[in-house]
Amino acid sequence: MQRIAIIGGGTAGAASALFLARAGHHVTLFERVAQPSAVGAGILLQPTGMHVLAALGLLDQILAHGARNDRLFGTTAGGRTVLDVHYRLHDQQSFGLGLHRGALFSVLWQALQAAGVHVCSGINIARIEQRGGQALLFSRDPAPGSAEAVAGEFDCAIIADGTRSELRAALAIPQKVTPYPWGALWTLVPDEGLTPGSLRQWFRHAQQMLGLMPTGFAYQQMEQPILSLFWSLRVDRLQHWQEQGLAAWKKTVLELAPIAPILEHIQSPDQLTFARYADVQMRHWHDARVVCIGDCAHATSPQLGQGANLALVDAMTLAQCFAESPTVEPALALYSQRRRAHLGYYQGASKLLTPFFQSDSRIASTLRDIALGPICRMPVARQQMAMTLSGAKAGWLFGKLQLPK
Ligand SMILES: Cc1cc2nc3c(=O)[nH]c(=O)nc-3n(C[C@H](O)[C@H](O)[C@H](O)COP(=O)(O)OP(=O)(O)OC[C@H]3O[C@@H](n4cnc5c(N)ncnc54)[C@H](O)[C@@H]3O)c2cc1C
Repeated sequence: MQRIAIIGGGTAGAASALFLARAGHHVTLFERVAQPSAVGAGILLQPTGMHVLAALGLLDQILAHGARNDRLFGTTAGGRTVLDVHYRLHDQQSFGLGLHRGALFSVLWQALQAAGVHVCSGINIARIEQRGGQALLFSRDPAPGSAEAVAGEFDCAIIADGTRSELRAALAIPQKVTPYPWGALWTLVPDEGLTPGSLRQWFRHAQQMLGLMPTGFAYQQMEQPILSLFWSLRVDRLQHWQEQGLAAWKKTVLELAPIAPILEHIQSPDQLTFARYADVQMRHWHDARVVCIGDCAHATSPQLGQGANLALVDAMTLAQCFAESPTVEPALALYSQRRRAHLGYYQGASKLLTPFFQSDSRIASTLRDIALGPICRMPVARQQMAMTLSGAKAGWLFGKLQLPK
């Protein structure tokens, strides 16, 4: 059994800690936030992510907190259908689950203690050194001038510290991190049943995009269902949005979508949080005894709603690789090999699709408006789109993700 350090207690870190601790490894989880709490807005959990949570025995709790989304439906301001993807076209039983990120976080963290994971909160890991067949972790308070301290010595270190990882760059792995020019404003409002069972989007060219996603319930607050609202915005237009004021923004939104009752719940710009994204590409994900998983390894734009799912699949695959290959370095090399096809497809598809939904290109948006609706009605294409959304594709043609039962 290995002594394993995990850096980052988000979806990827917490899920892999659970799998590995339950397999008998000695797992220490470092999280830099001193009192991690249920933050964030809605995430879309896909059937693949739910498969992983079922393997962890956590799916029932997750389902109780989520809202079923059977369909992704998007139109132009004029009412023309641009996107119409039904999960059942991939599999009759399948659906997406709108879920508060905090609910996923809370359910995973509740399970850590019972699994025997040693959780060290409030520890910022600043550096990893590989020497003498060990991974040495050093922590440092982010305050300027603070000294470094040894956090521990391990057989393996799993970096799961998110898109803006500060540890990734020091690894001997060719990598590229490209911040996206576009981000999104997010908020949560009470769900009054405006878009039951659907993630609903409205588009004007590729410059304006409004999304509403039934999101279920905040953790253990089952009295009020919630809805996530997101509004696409170019990063360098954030200041203009702030200066313009809430009333002007609401007018723009209402010209795109009839959601006046929802907008009444937004009374201050502070209710909206701006999220930035980046594209992270790595040639492979392991460097001797260290491996990157989750957003740290392969963040993309959120267009395909795969962030939490890919992180969950990473966690399950990594545990499987440890089960098959009891020594660290071969297990991590096997992990990179096993994840290549699935991650390659979703990174490629996100990169290809994003300009059609978030860009200033009129050519891209016109092509999208003309072609995507009819494509959504073609039998093979709509099945492939449903499979893509479900998180199950592992190649442009026939590749399918194989997860352990
Ligand atoms: C605060 C927050 C809010 C988010 N909100 C949303 C949302 O509303 N909708 C959505 O779709 N996605 C959201 N995400 C992203 C989503 O959680 C991820 O895409 C997905 O779950 C994959 O998670 P991850 O574990 O790879 O990374 P993350 O969820 O980003 O987790 C990384 C963790 O690592 C910790 N960490 C970072 N550096 C260090 C370090 N040096 N030492 C120790 N710990 C470290 C961070 O504090 C964080 O807890 C959010 C992420 C965060 C961190």
